[in-house]
Amino acid sequence: MYAGSCLCGQVKYTLSAEPGAFGYCHCTSCRKASGSAHAANAPVDRSSFQLVAGSTVIREYQSSPGKYRAFCSNCGSPIYAYLSAAPDVIRIRLGSLDTPFTKAPQAHTWVSDKAPWEPIADAIPQFDTWAPTTVLHQRGSRQDSC
Ligand SMILES: [Zn+2]
Ligand SMILES: [Zn+2]
Repeated sequence: MYAGSCLCGQVKYTLSAEPGAFGYCHCTSCRKASGSAHAANAPVDRSSFQLVAGSTVIREYQSSPGKYRAFCSNCGSPIYAYLSAAPDVIRIRLGSLDTPFTKAPQAHTWVSDKAPWEPIADAIPQFDTWAPTTVLHQRGSRQDSC
């Protein structure tokens, strides 16, 4: 249904299900991990994720206890992340998708951490920390344990 890859092309994956609802996370960790103003990550069941190529170059970094970020060790592209407490859900980095993905973001989250050089100039609701789950349930994230 969806195909994705890293910048150098050594990591390739497919998704057999559509990624779930997502937002833009402006938290410091997401800014560091993406190298940009915010992350755009959507959940998918791990059973729907198939690594097609790159099993020898994909690496995981534990960025905080129990939180693992998978990336290409050749080019550095982030691919997905997951919590060891919820290993059946992975959060795909939407920028790695090659197949057009047309869902719209539901929220700006952790706006209290946003970079001062980033203007937010759209009508998507903004939240200082997590969005309420009624607005955006970020499956597989720490929102579930808040
Ligand atoms: Zn790569
Ligand atoms: Zn974040």
